[in-house]
Amino acid sequence: MRATRALIHLDHLKENIALVTEKTGRAICMPLKAGAYGHGALELAGAALAAGVTYLAVATVGEGTELRQGGIEAPVLLLSIPLPEEIKELAASDMEPLAGDGEYIDALDHEAARTGKRIRVHLKIDTGMGRIGCSPAMAPALASRITKSKNLMLAGTATHLAVSDSLAPKDRAFTNRQLEVFSAAVEAIKALGVDPGLVHAANTGAVTFYSGAWFDMVRPGILLYGYAPKDKTGKAAVPVKPLMELVSSLVFIKPVARGTTVSYGRIWKARTGTVIGTIPIGYADGLPRGLGNTWRILAGGVLRPLAGRICMDQCMVDLGRDSGLRRWDRVTIFGGKAPHAGVMASLLGTIPYEITCNINKRVPRIYIDKN
Ligand SMILES: *Cc1c(COP(=O)(O)O)cnc(C)c1O
Repeated sequence: MRATRALIHLDHLKENIALVTEKTGRAICMPLKAGAYGHGALELAGAALAAGVTYLAVATVGEGTELRQGGIEAPVLLLSIPLPEEIKELAASDMEPLAGDGEYIDALDHEAARTGKRIRVHLKIDTGMGRIGCSPAMAPALASRITKSKNLMLAGTATHLAVSDSLAPKDRAFTNRQLEVFSAAVEAIKALGVDPGLVHAANTGAVTFYSGAWFDMVRPGILLYGYAPKDKTGKAAVPVKPLMELVSSLVFIKPVARGTTVSYGRIWKARTGTVIGTIPIGYADGLPRGLGNTWRILAGGVLRPLAGRICMDQCMVDLGRDSGLRRWDRVTIFGGKAPHAGVMASLLGTIPYEITCNINKRVPRIYIDKN
């Protein structure tokens, strides 16, 4: 196996799930979209279900089918809208779509009638995310439309929050407004004598900051992967542990003289004699190229700066003159005892989701469970 690997700490996942369970006291739906945010959907599904998660969620029908083919029997929410021609597979894979329009609901009804197997639908209400879902005013009519069909069942009612991870006053006001509108829509559904099913709204931000958003089930993604929103003091608001630790090895080491340049563009130059190590990871593995000359990796217990541009498959690190490091020694790119993917994300003006999702299939995942 190649030196570059993503270690996935399943013991941290279990601890993070326990934290969310303790904090909310609610059922947990774990989003496993995009290969579990880059961690590996099937492996995480198994570990999450064993740790008490009851619902899973994916973005594409293919992701749902992958879970079923892997033997996962738990309910699987489909968070995004598929093409009409994918509905057959959606039903065959026994997925629970989020739907918020008559056309989609009719198509689901039609497929369920054809196969004689009920489809469990979650009504998605758009309360301010502006992505998918019905207007709050339409919710009662669509809920009863679903309930009246003998082919469909209203398994849940949901919304999604746009700024729940922010403590800025205008964002707090917006989130509170979204929750009021959602609660009112759920009440209007109940007033028609319709059971809204499982009511759910809380993503990571809402699990962290809005107990009024927890309803029957919570859907935290990035929090379970180990990255929490920041509290007022700038610290992680929930003590979760990152799952992903990206490691590699020094595969080549050489001393260089003062004035030597390293890598494309020659943007790095040795200010004094030093030792350069080469690591077999590059932007084609998902290591952001923008980190060249900037990011520091952990080698021999010390953070050491990357030297020069990150190449497609390799990058270089300035080890200093007397590090004692040897060829084949292990280094940590992020996570573990090194700064985690959230720190890397901040440096790049992005979010940890993008960092872990982009670590691609070329990097083998190694699952570790110390419990
Ligand atoms: C991705 C997603 C979540 C989880 O979001 P996080 O920010 O990772 O907690 C919850 N609900 C829906 C609809 C999503 O698409």
